[in-house]
Amino acid sequence: MPLVSTRQLLDEAAKGGYGVGAFNVNDMEQIQAIMEAAKETNSPVIIQASRGARAFAQDNYLYHLMLAAAELYPQIPLAMHLDHGNSFETCESAIKLGFTSVMMDGSLKADGKTPATFAENVEVTRKVVDYAHERGIAVEGEIGVLGGIEDGHGAGGSGLEHVTDPDQAVEFAELTGVDSLAIAIGTSHGAYKFTKKPDGSVLKMDLLIAIHKRLPKTHLVMHGSSSVPKDLQDIINQYGGKLKETWGVPVEEIQLGIKNGVRKINVDTDNRLAITGAIRKVFVENPEKFDPRDYMKPARAAMQKVVATRMVQFGQAGHAGDYTAISIADMAKGYANGTLSTKPLVAAR
Ligand SMILES: [Zn+2]
Repeated sequence: MPLVSTRQLLDEAAKGGYGVGAFNVNDMEQIQAIMEAAKETNSPVIIQASRGARAFAQDNYLYHLMLAAAELYPQIPLAMHLDHGNSFETCESAIKLGFTSVMMDGSLKADGKTPATFAENVEVTRKVVDYAHERGIAVEGEIGVLGGIEDGHGAGGSGLEHVTDPDQAVEFAELTGVDSLAIAIGTSHGAYKFTKKPDGSVLKMDLLIAIHKRLPKTHLVMHGSSSVPKDLQDIINQYGGKLKETWGVPVEEIQLGIKNGVRKINVDTDNRLAITGAIRKVFVENPEKFDPRDYMKPARAAMQKVVATRMVQFGQAGHAGDYTAISIADMAKGYANGTLSTKPLVAAR
């Protein structure tokens, strides 16, 4: 299947009542792990690259690896997404390269650190939406500011400093016309999200439910949603690592989110943990080995296992064959004639 629009994947997920994991990649082995997990579970899939990943791998390598994945797995709907674009130019370059959706994270200024004003966020996001939709490309916005820092991007701090205000979320969706919206409900990027198993005082699922009620047509996105499982932490520490005790977002909370409009769930940390644990194990148990394949193969298999598990837990498993790809050119027509509009006030009329 050619690369498809993330919007189509999320619309189908909404129809089917499931969520779609969006897994971050930097290299070939991670893409291979995700595609094998998608094949194993018959899942549609979103693969995403951050600015850090694009700098690490170079755009052309990433794009051609994605085309290879689309060629090798014609039965799997596959979308390629830019994670946390920091400016119009970053989003524009991703769209020119061939990404099928972009995130314009206007919740922060272009430095990727300083919280932006609501007006600044609306202005830059709307500019990206206008440019992207004309070309059939979907846009994810962010309102409220997530906690933590990942790949040098983030405001830092806990996830509770700038949680999303539902009224602002509605206004933002109306003014920008984004396809999907990342909201801040207490989650953070990176491994250190919570210092104990999160409850309602630190993870605001009630806020998510309130936002979905007001914005039923806008797909919600959970960022910072690795579960940071204890067994993956333990493998790293058992083989010489030094992770501090930490908690992520419990899968059952994500599943509650999926029942309430969450269609895209970003997962990166869990895969990083799986890869690192597998490599550490080989280094400690077989210090004589020096062929990178001896540790990259188990690392890739460990990531595949995590991804396949999440695909089943998010409900996307079994849904790869539900639909055929809408061309990006036809998506552009849908945006132009209004059939793909998500604007809440327009929708209410
Ligand atoms: Zn994020």
